[in-house]
Amino acid sequence: MIVLMQCVDCGKQTDKLYGGSCVECYLKTHKLITVPEYVDLTVCVYCNARESNGAWIDGTMEEVVESAVESSITAARDVSIFSISVQQKQRDKSLYDLDITVSGTVMDIPFTEKYQSVLRVARNACDRCCKYTGGYFEAIVQLRAKNRQPSDEEIKAAKDLVSKHIRSMQEGDRDTFISKIEEVKGGIDFYLSTQGSGNIISKLLQSRFGGSHQSSVKIAGMKAGVDIYRVTHLVRMPEYRPGDVLKYKNKDYVVKNTNDRTASITNIQNLETFSLSHTELDDSKIIFKKEDIHEAVVVYVASDTVQIIDPENSKAVDVSLPRGYKPGEIVKVARSEGRNILIP
Ligand SMILES: [Zn+2]
Ligand SMILES: [Zn+2]
Repeated sequence: MIVLMQCVDCGKQTDKLYGGSCVECYLKTHKLITVPEYVDLTVCVYCNARESNGAWIDGTMEEVVESAVESSITAARDVSIFSISVQQKQRDKSLYDLDITVSGTVMDIPFTEKYQSVLRVARNACDRCCKYTGGYFEAIVQLRAKNRQPSDEEIKAAKDLVSKHIRSMQEGDRDTFISKIEEVKGGIDFYLSTQGSGNIISKLLQSRFGGSHQSSVKIAGMKAGVDIYRVTHLVRMPEYRPGDVLKYKNKDYVVKNTNDRTASITNIQNLETFSLSHTELDDSKIIFKKEDIHEAVVVYVASDTVQIIDPENSKAVDVSLPRGYKPGEIVKVARSEGRNILIP
């Protein structure tokens, strides 16, 4: 049996009252949602990031306006909001008209209500862009080479590697950036915005180019009572590069490749290949740079010599034979004391 009750506001008979009122009167007399006349939003002039609750976030205008609206509206007690949708129409450079639709329930009554508000957009610079435009950095990674200048090739490879890696780091951390890249006498310097990126980039360069890594810390000032540290990383590539020929313990070796700790080298007489640490190879001496190594064509092969066309004077010349070659084959040769040496 349904018991009917009377609404205190309109006198209507109903089977359910909300604080003495029928559904209609309850919704009419209670303010469920409060939407401010203005919703304020700050946008970075440089990168379009939006400030949201004190943090800067990248995202589309729609996404950020929605989250700004969500955080600016308040719901009465007993109201649960299910969804908020926002239609925005730009009025001028900094004002947008907003149509806001809120759905939810109060007590157990479902409701959908529409509101209007105005979005005010202010322009400012985000933390990251402030730092960037101010030349901020916390780490310097210096790439150098032992007893030589890094080659243009190495400088370019390092730049590409660092730029690419920083871009991928930025996807997870918007505060990471390259503040400056400076080519200096003896190498290249990367100025980086965070200590973490300095650690990562110095290890990356060392594993790509080999050699040693040292770091030093300096106090660069104070911020909010805390010391600011700046770390300088020095990555020094070995003197030798893949393709160079070394004299090591009176034998000649071609460098095949290098990594952060070792170089793999091949004996040019017996073709034995093995790895040695950069420290062990400290005693080695470069006898040919890879630029000094030329290509030559094999014309004739005898039992213990191979005849090639000398790249210097185009004459046929005999060279002692470290391994079986075939006529017509292209070989690498380097000239030492007037003699050609075959490089495997
Ligand atoms: Zn009523
Ligand atoms: Zn910015």
